[in-house]
Amino acid sequence: MAIHCPKCGSDRMKLHVPQTSIWRCGKCRYMGPVFIEDGNLEKQLKENRKIEKLRQKLFRFR
Ligand SMILES: [Zn+2]
Repeated sequence: MAIHCPKCGSDRMKLHVPQTSIWRCGKCRYMGPVFIEDGNLEKQLKENRKIEKLRQKLFRFR
């Protein structure tokens, strides 16, 4: 099963942290969890937006 970047759709995804499900995109440098679920792209995008917001918050406090 191919894993596609939720941000740019590229399949150049690499597992960033093997113990977790943090993936890294080799194209747009997206880093985050990728949920492999069939036909649930909308849910996945929603989830990713949530995580993206959280990440931005965390970066701001640095
Ligand atoms: Zn990407």
